[in-house]
Amino acid sequence: MSKKLTSRAQDYSKWYNELVVKADLAENSAVRGCMVIKPYGYAIWEKMQAELDRMFKETGHQNAYFPLLVPKSLFEAEEKNAEGFAKECAVVTHYRLQNDPDKPGKLRVDPEAKLEEELVVRPTSEAIIWNTFRGWVQSYRDLPLLINQWANVVRWEMRTRLFLRTAEFLWQEGHTAHATKKEALDEAALMNNVYATFAEKFMAIPVIQGLKTESERFAGADETYCIEALMQDGKALQAGTSHFLGQNFAKAFDVKFANKEGKQDHVWATSWGVSTRLMGALIMTHSDDHGLVLPPSLAPNQVVIVPIYKSEEDLNNITEVANSILTDLRAKHITVKFDNRDTHRPGAKFAQHELQGVPLRIAIGPKDLANGTVELARRDTLSKQVVDLNNLTETIENLLKEIQDTLFNKALDFRDSHITEVNSFEEFKDVLENKTGFISAHWDGTTETEDKIKEITKATIRCVPLEGPVEPGVCVYSGKPSAQRVLFAKAY
Ligand code: AMP
Repeated sequence: MSKKLTSRAQDYSKWYNELVVKADLAENSAVRGCMVIKPYGYAIWEKMQAELDRMFKETGHQNAYFPLLVPKSLFEAEEKNAEGFAKECAVVTHYRLQNDPDKPGKLRVDPEAKLEEELVVRPTSEAIIWNTFRGWVQSYRDLPLLINQWANVVRWEMRTRLFLRTAEFLWQEGHTAHATKKEALDEAALMNNVYATFAEKFMAIPVIQGLKTESERFAGADETYCIEALMQDGKALQAGTSHFLGQNFAKAFDVKFANKEGKQDHVWATSWGVSTRLMGALIMTHSDDHGLVLPPSLAPNQVVIVPIYKSEEDLNNITEVANSILTDLRAKHITVKFDNRDTHRPGAKFAQHELQGVPLRIAIGPKDLANGTVELARRDTLSKQVVDLNNLTETIENLLKEIQDTLFNKALDFRDSHITEVNSFEEFKDVLENKTGFISAHWDGTTETEDKIKEITKATIRCVPLEGPVEPGVCVYSGKPSAQRVLFAKAY
């Protein structure tokens, strides 16, 4: 077994990077800023995908797929969106390589094979999708149009970190068209709510729903809803966004519909997305110095069974018991693996499953066989108990629920104890230095003040929370009137 992880207290950032690699979730690749997601990490992502996909379909959305490459002229059409993403676009200029006449064995782009129009590798797909929607929408009967795409996108990020910020990432992007402004606003709020429910119920990550300020808004959006989570080091993470796009894309791509009165009008739009960044949120919310801690609903294996034996006969007897446990648990839709590899000793298996966050571990040895018991260990609390085989399925069912709840409540307690109300800029700076977490403070609503605070403290406005009291006050920085408190934090 490789040596222990760096502890979170020692170096949180190092702990995270080591954990991602040692738990076999992902690794850096030959391409700068792009990661390889390994099978164990991908299995967790697939679980997230399956649940989100189910939730999208339940709210009436359908999946479709659009091209990776976007002609530059389309990309330019919505000016604000183009301007916002221009700085981080990869662009395809040629369509052929040839042997380099000056360097044997090397290739170069064929100067004859220059594209007539350059193609942008999608950093987000509004342009290509809205260009397509023009042909799909004619009348109010075609609305609402509720589309989702599972895809990869590329944003040429300068400072990257596995899962949290990569140059290529996997995500889903919802794109919808509506007859009225209200419907589109409701959709943006609804999907933000879907994200919040998913984060809390499925990932056991408490989130705050809110609106972004103008300077943090998605390029091309009139309003951006978001869910914000708090990591164990006291930094915030934007875990998902849902945008109300007004008629900006409909106007840029001339997407009109005939309303019930037969009059032509531009449609109203939303887009919304979560990405593989959620993997980072998952790791940073629950894991500890021993490795990954997974909420049962996201664990590829919720239970693992490790046999402890000396003789072939013992193994045969244990296998018989293990097989019956597998059958019982699978009948209850619990995912379970019998780790009977003869290439690893039990201690190494224990260490691996601990590092990989398997919620429950069953160990069965000869003594257990004689007593009709097993040893059951919880990953989240690292506690062990001896359980009678007759009660095992029920005990496991209950424990999985309990672990899911315990993880959420622990994260919620941490989050709630790291929201500090401040009433002066001195207090603001003091909290940032000593306690971190979210700072709830009055702000005068101007980008100028927001920028100044960011410049001095590196904290940004994470969101204007949608819930909680809306009481006016005085801006901590400028002393000017403030409509309500907003949440500041240092963020990933
Ligand atoms: P956006 O389209 O900018 O609103 O982002 C949609 C989702 O992708 C949000 O949940 C972001 O937090 C996430 N995201 C943005 N940039 C990256 C990146 N470089 N790597 C991973 N996730 C990202």
